[in-house]
Amino acid sequence: MRLVLLGPPGAGKGTQAARLATELDVPAISTGDIFRANVSEGTELGRTAQSYMDEGEYVPDEVTNAMVRERLMAEDATDGFLLDGYPRTPAQVEELDRMLAAAGAELDAVVQLTVDTEEVVKRLAQRASEQHRSDDGEEVQRHRLEVYEKQTAPLVDLYDRRGKLCAVDGLGKVPEVTGRILAVLGRG
Ligand code: AMP
Repeated sequence: MRLVLLGPPGAGKGTQAARLATELDVPAISTGDIFRANVSEGTELGRTAQSYMDEGEYVPDEVTNAMVRERLMAEDATDGFLLDGYPRTPAQVEELDRMLAAAGAELDAVVQLTVDTEEVVKRLAQRASEQHRSDDGEEVQRHRLEVYEKQTAPLVDLYDRRGKLCAVDGLGKVPEVTGRILAVLGRG
């Protein structure tokens, strides 16, 4: 299965991605996690990414696309993958289209996790106190939500027009949400 998980910061993408990866036996590929790993390892990519991440801005498409291209070429991703946090812009959608076309592959589905803004703000506040992420301060959080609305929310319509979109209610207990996702994918 080749899947994309879409949703605002705090929708539960990371949590669900890890569970779905196990259930579906595909690697969960989180661009946010890869950037954070590079930041803590002090790589050049990490240094480039950090300034954007700390401001709640997206890392430039060329940088992100190159990183995903390399990751998707790894052997564990040839038969399937679950992308968490990519694509996030129309230019990233185009790049993913090119990568898939070159591999003669197609996305099976784009799962949109829906949650209301109030719940997202609550979840982000909780994560900030638990995980101490440098991009989880209140101002930056608000900005991350704005950036999502402007740059990423339009991808929902785009994938819907392509007939790939599955909207899933992201509210509720973690296993319940996983169950809903597996059900819409026909794996429940
Ligand atoms: P996440 O953990 O998915 O919320 O990502 C954390 C941060 O990493 C984002 O706020 C961006 O700065 C950066 N990032 C992750 N994925 C992408 C992407 N697809 N495009 C650009 N920036 C990204």
